[in-house]
Amino acid sequence: MPAPRPSESAEAARAAALQAEFNEKKWVWVPDERDGYLAGWIHKEEGDFGQIVLKASGEIRTVPLYALDKMNPPKFDRVDDIADLTFLNKASVVNNLWLRFGSGNIYTYSGLFLIAINPYQSLPLYSDSIIQQYRNKRRDENPPHIFAVAERAWVNMGEERENQSILITGESGAGKTESTKKVIQYLAAIATDVHPSHSRSPTIGSSSSIAALPRSDSFRRGHTVSPSISSGSGSQLTARGRLGLLERQILQANPILEAFGNAQTQRNNNSSRFGKFVRITFAPDGSIAGANIDWYLLEKSRVVVRSEAERSFHVFYQLMVGGGALKETLLLGGGVEDYEYLNKSRREVDGVDDKEEWAALKGALDTVGFTAAEQLDLFRIVAAILHIGNIEITSARTDDAGMPDPSQAERVCHLLGIPVAEFIRAVLRPRTLAGREWVSQARTQRQALEELGALCKTLYEKSFGAIVDRINVALDRPSSKSTFIGVLDIAGFEIFEINAYEQLLINYTNEKLQQFFNHHMFVLEQEEYTREGIKWEYVNFGLDLQPTIDLIEASGNVIGILSCLDEECIMPRATDLTFTNKLHGLWAAGQENGHPGRTKYQPTRFDQGFIIKHYAAEVEYHTTGWLEKNKDPLNDNLTRVLAASSDRYVASLFAEYADAPTTPSGPGGPTNGFAAGKKRGIKKGAFRTVGQRHKEQLSSLMSQLQSTQPHFIRCIVPNSNKKPGRFDVPLVLEQLQCNGVLEGVRISRLGYPNRLPFVEFRQRYEVLTPGIIPRGYMDGREACRRMVKALELDEAIFKIGTSKIFFKAGVLAELEERRDLHL
Ligand code: ADP
Ligand code: MG
Repeated sequence: MPAPRPSESAEAARAAALQAEFNEKKWVWVPDERDGYLAGWIHKEEGDFGQIVLKASGEIRTVPLYALDKMNPPKFDRVDDIADLTFLNKASVVNNLWLRFGSGNIYTYSGLFLIAINPYQSLPLYSDSIIQQYRNKRRDENPPHIFAVAERAWVNMGEERENQSILITGESGAGKTESTKKVIQYLAAIATDVHPSHSRSPTIGSSSSIAALPRSDSFRRGHTVSPSISSGSGSQLTARGRLGLLERQILQANPILEAFGNAQTQRNNNSSRFGKFVRITFAPDGSIAGANIDWYLLEKSRVVVRSEAERSFHVFYQLMVGGGALKETLLLGGGVEDYEYLNKSRREVDGVDDKEEWAALKGALDTVGFTAAEQLDLFRIVAAILHIGNIEITSARTDDAGMPDPSQAERVCHLLGIPVAEFIRAVLRPRTLAGREWVSQARTQRQALEELGALCKTLYEKSFGAIVDRINVALDRPSSKSTFIGVLDIAGFEIFEINAYEQLLINYTNEKLQQFFNHHMFVLEQEEYTREGIKWEYVNFGLDLQPTIDLIEASGNVIGILSCLDEECIMPRATDLTFTNKLHGLWAAGQENGHPGRTKYQPTRFDQGFIIKHYAAEVEYHTTGWLEKNKDPLNDNLTRVLAASSDRYVASLFAEYADAPTTPSGPGGPTNGFAAGKKRGIKKGAFRTVGQRHKEQLSSLMSQLQSTQPHFIRCIVPNSNKKPGRFDVPLVLEQLQCNGVLEGVRISRLGYPNRLPFVEFRQRYEVLTPGIIPRGYMDGREACRRMVKALELDEAIFKIGTSKIFFKAGVLAELEERRDLHL
């Protein structure tokens, strides 16, 4: 804390007055259904209850004392770092965020986290001059900002030659993808600075001339409302002109990913329907050497169905609206309304011009280096899917599926390079093995339609994977000495009304990421205490979460949920119910054997389901459809036809099926590739269940993360209306619970969360111990020792290290009060 300048003395007087007013009453936070918490003071205490006067209304409420949270003294209002609060409770955390948000500070630290609240308006926080303001600065030299996190990652990487990761999570619409873009924008800008050969014009300004922006003022002033909301694609990099080709390609990869992987949803007009981990590699001189993208869990079902208020992936509309002559090549007549896969739900997004977005997509594809032929490949798949959606399947009297008009299938087959007769047969009457003989088995209308839907989902997902691979070819520059900064943009913990298999996979991922965070925090805290020579036995909090993780992913002796599901997927006559019962059976037996699964065996709301105790909450899962979702089956008649396509791109997408076995699984078993593959130990890459694939991807992600120094960003959506300026406290609280911020606070409370360097402690609180410290020099540690003795602080509530004094939560509030009484 710097000594007050004369101009600040008025400020100091006001602070003192606020503190004095604060001291007159016992201030508390009262839980409230609608507003989350209300400020009030304790009027009277009777037994376990308190009579509270609410500050805003004067209303008196009787509340059990345990439900009240203590309020922090005014000195702590709007602190940059929540960890500095002396009372660390939910109410104070959310109040601090609310106060800051109200004054235009969307970023706040909470120990190791940076919390970012979506402002839903474009703020002037990301210009080149702000970039310069954060260059070569420590975290505490500037207001909290995502650039400070990117800067720290970059500096750590350079100084310690260690890979870095930035983990961004939050719920849909919270601002993860925008945050990812800001990080990449910052890294591209500063990496270009270190590499003048990339520059086309002299770099603007030296860091020293612009860095002198006043601290928080620049933020507050910058908070005028601007009507435009930054749309998804493109970057706001004003200095784009001076970026080199590689940097531009990295930035332009994003509009491609967004066109194919994002969609309008009720929560977010540009919602990413996949997770990604983008690694940017740097040469030893700090310049960008390349980049690589991994992706997770694309929501491919959106291609076929979605809720009425939502759209399919952007690219469908962009192609239909902007495609021009290309549409003729792709045999796409008419408009969006003419296609079954598009005309059942919303068609436009407010404020988005699909034609412009189409142009942006084409530009991005060109920049990244997709040739005209490669671009045509991608759009052929998109068009083929639209045509498949329009194939009419009828039902004959015998219940057999029929296709009265093959002209639609002919279009599809023309685009996919496959023979029409074989395609139609694979859809209507696929051959399966019965005993030792091959027989054609007629499909019902519903089965055939489902098969077509499954085909579209697979086509789309495989093409998406191929796009990412192609981008990686353009961006990957293998080099031995490089280090990377990886940015993870992945959906946070989800609790819906009905939680399906997708939620389990997401929540499982988040449980692992939270464990990773907890462990990291534990290590750093432990290091700090050791550095300061303080003895403190910490439990390893990461291990707290292991039972839940085992419950999901264990294989071998203990069978986890995913393994159990895999097993049921190859069992004849297995159903979602047999799977669910088997799971409950395992758990009941496990409980007897002392397996610490954090699950409850209480009955669920569903006919088939179970409850898992995650770190964020207990979640009830509904297991309908899990077997199908896990197998993700496509009949192997169809995959073989596609693998043999005369079109190289289509054939490559299905290459893994080219030598698929001709013998399907045993009697009555599903005739999908997975089941057959499992039996014959098919080559790696083919026929894995969705769960297996995700588990492998996640374990590869985790081992990469473990080799990095991590940085954590938690994005928060402030309201459900996508509106600027609104802060819905209960909604924010829920997210703080799910995203681990409150978990971090909980852990830090177990230690000594408030810490002050000796000098600071002495400066602020020496007034309370007059005459204790002799005039002239005295060792800081000794001074602290004498002060705490004179203050008669209990040994249990503080620790004196080698350079700092550490306090349990709440101690500083008391000192503040005593200090004020003194002044
Ligand atoms: P998520 O990826 O978490 O689902 P997005 O990053 O797509 O969310 O953000 C949703 C929308 O919120 C964006 O399209 C944009 O309009 C707005 N938004 C998010 N972060 C910011 C920000 N820092 N500044 C301005 N607008 C933002
Ligand atoms: Mg997103």
